[in-house]
Amino acid sequence: MQTAMIAPAVQQLYEYFSGGTTRSIAWRKQQLNNLQQMIDDSEQAIFEALREDLGKAEQESWLSEVGYLQTDIRHSLRHLSKWSSPRKVSTPVVAQPGKSYLQPEPLGTVLIIGAWNYPFQLLLAPLVAAISAGNCAVLKPSELAPATSKLLATLLPRYLDSKAFLVVQGAVEETTELLRQPFDHILYTGGEAVGKIVMRAAAEHLTPVTLELGGKSPCIVAGDCDLDVAAARIVWSKWMNAGQTCVAPDYILTEKGFSGPLMSALQKQLTAFYGTDPATSPDYGRIINQRHFQRLQECLSDQRVSFGGQTNPAERYMAPTLVLDPPLKSKLMQEEIFGPILPVISLEKIDDAIPFINNRPKPLALYLYTENQAFEQQVLTRTSAGSVCINDGMMFMANPQLPFGGVGNSGMGRYHGQWGFDTFSHLKAVMKRSNWFDINWRYPPFSAAKLKKL
Ligand code: NAD
Repeated sequence: MQTAMIAPAVQQLYEYFSGGTTRSIAWRKQQLNNLQQMIDDSEQAIFEALREDLGKAEQESWLSEVGYLQTDIRHSLRHLSKWSSPRKVSTPVVAQPGKSYLQPEPLGTVLIIGAWNYPFQLLLAPLVAAISAGNCAVLKPSELAPATSKLLATLLPRYLDSKAFLVVQGAVEETTELLRQPFDHILYTGGEAVGKIVMRAAAEHLTPVTLELGGKSPCIVAGDCDLDVAAARIVWSKWMNAGQTCVAPDYILTEKGFSGPLMSALQKQLTAFYGTDPATSPDYGRIINQRHFQRLQECLSDQRVSFGGQTNPAERYMAPTLVLDPPLKSKLMQEEIFGPILPVISLEKIDDAIPFINNRPKPLALYLYTENQAFEQQVLTRTSAGSVCINDGMMFMANPQLPFGGVGNSGMGRYHGQWGFDTFSHLKAVMKRSNWFDINWRYPPFSAAKLKKL
């Protein structure tokens, strides 16, 4: 779409929203069913686009993108009537007789800006929430995943009400123009730098924002953990999508004396998953583009690699790589890695993990592998993170009852399940009084007798 066409196209969505069609629960359910149908009809095309953009294996695409979204749609269809019903709250004596409730109402027309690493799911899961809550939406897929972006721009208007939903493909110029429009909410997924641009632009219109950002998510591995299970779960969650996952463990904190067995277990598991030459594994992904590939190579340039490290720039291939005890001042430990390199830091004692984490920006996710409940409680109560998963990787994402979102530098706001519905709703406070009787003590003229009753 040409930049000049963006403002009038968005204006049409505002007008459609004002007409009230999107408020109907039946319409919302129809749109969700249509989205489900789109996925069923186009599953193969979606897998192909994801393979083209990121070299993703079909099963991985199903697990982390397509299947995830299908579950999300089913969950929303099942609960949306309840979510959109008035939520009763108690009423104090001073307002009796009367009743009070929260009436969810759609916000209006919202903007959803997606990232490239899960280009299908990260754009459509917020859409499911926006539809459920009865909004119109503009979708801006990431230009760094062009095959998925193009496919979504073709498919969505065929299945969804095109008066309510608009896909705008493009990069900085188009996003900048979109950000000039007075949306009723913006949900942005991506890096911190652009998050600030989004928030600044939103401030112009006092548009509320949800920022789904990233950062360095730590993974504490205590010597008392079940090592084989931990290694399998760490390798699965780190090297899915070649490490390009916002909630991937960014680095491991373990204790001296345990780093040796842990490194061996990780290597064994990597070989079990991807073979001795992961370049030939159909299950191992590729880096999104040359810029990110170069960035990752730079992260490795000043490191002593313990395992992996092989690259093939032509294919944007980087082997699963382990680095033991990198300097904490190096790029690898200063920036979010967002790729297939896992540093393992050995601490004097495992409790040192707590100040280590607290001395850095609040992470999106924190992982803890331990059997020690006292230590588990210490970590939970003394650190902060968007989400915590104990004895597993990103499995917490599979529970729609849990909100997903960051804290501090890793983001603001949340979605998934009802949390997403609420993000795209205004919970209007309503009180209804009865006319049955009316006590006059709050009305002027005031008197000492009336005051006594207060
Ligand atoms: P990206 O480059 O795909 O950018 C995200 C979006 O911002 C794109 O749609 C892009 O067009 C837009 N954009 C880029 N530059 C812009 C500009 N100058 N002005 C306006 N819009 C602009 O994504 P990225 O930033 O490379 O994504 C990686 C980061 O995202 C990592 O930090 C990762 O942890 C984070 N992430 C977070 C989540 C989450 O759910 N919390 C999920 C995935 C990725």
